[in-house]
Amino acid sequence: MKVLVADDSPITRRLLEAFLKQWGYDVVMVADGLEAWEILQREDAPRLAILDWVMPGMTGLEICRRIRAEQGRQYTYILLVTSKGEKADLIQGLEAGADDYLTKPVDQHELKVRLAAGRRILELQDALLRAQAELREQALRDPLTKLWNRRGILELLEKELARCERGQGPLGIAIGDLDHFKRVNDRYGHIAGDAVLREAAQRMARSCRVYDSLGRYGGEEFLILLPGCDLESAQRQADRLRQELAAEPIELEAQQVTITCSFGTTSVPSGTRAPIEDVLRVADAALYAAKEEGRNRVVSLPLRTGQAS
Ligand code: GH3
Ligand code: MG
Ligand code: MG
Repeated sequence: MKVLVADDSPITRRLLEAFLKQWGYDVVMVADGLEAWEILQREDAPRLAILDWVMPGMTGLEICRRIRAEQGRQYTYILLVTSKGEKADLIQGLEAGADDYLTKPVDQHELKVRLAAGRRILELQDALLRAQAELREQALRDPLTKLWNRRGILELLEKELARCERGQGPLGIAIGDLDHFKRVNDRYGHIAGDAVLREAAQRMARSCRVYDSLGRYGGEEFLILLPGCDLESAQRQADRLRQELAAEPIELEAQQVTITCSFGTTSVPSGTRAPIEDVLRVADAALYAAKEEGRNRVVSLPLRTGQAS
């Protein structure tokens, strides 16, 4: 693990460097506060820092304050080193955001255990962030297809609608529903049906553009967001997905299954405020029409809002 040591005393630096290297740390040494601050700003900054209280350029105390004032940065564990032994000073140091402190002359055993405590905190924090990211992923992803789930794709739709309202281009929306999917389950079983759903999702994901978003809206229904697409290009884009799905049969263990999908699309013109319910209702009506007209096709319906802002 990398450790930053900032101290203007060459003797302390040499001493700390020797100990830290002996304990297997990767040591970054600086002699003044400004340099320390600069290093802590970097992308690959050490997450453990041993800062001298009194230094030229910027004091260790000031560095603590600045680091803690920055939102959203990864946590830096700070050990403040001070020759000021008085309690009032320590309180000031901890209030500034230091996690712990050491008094000069530095005792190597004390340094070792205090650093170990810092590492434990950092490791706990990493584990917590990983768990948090995983939970968020689970909350927004569909386990079967790995696409956004209904909640995930609807959150994205809200964001895209806001972007569209700000005048940053139209937003195309498509709802796709696999045709006669019940028959697939009835004929090949539910497990095979799941495999077909997974493959269908992958085919669609492959034919989406990088800035499109694709989610599983319901059982065998998909919601596709097409930023920048007016009605005509949304229709074209949905038709690409439709062709990609039907182009080749899906290979299961013992059989081949040909599937088709019907799509309903609409588009929100740039600079228009469109409630999410209206958008979904129109796309759904278009999908219903595609089913009525014989399936395996795309039907587009314009959004009638008249609420241009
Ligand atoms: P239509 O062309 O009108 O859409 O016909 P359909 O059979 O696809 O429509 P319907 O809504 O009658 O049936 C949808 C089927 O999708 C029924 C349901 O069992 C199946 N389904 C929904 N979710 C899953 C799933 O996660 N796995 C599997 N295997 N089947 C699913
Ligand atoms: Mg359906
Ligand atoms: Mg269906």
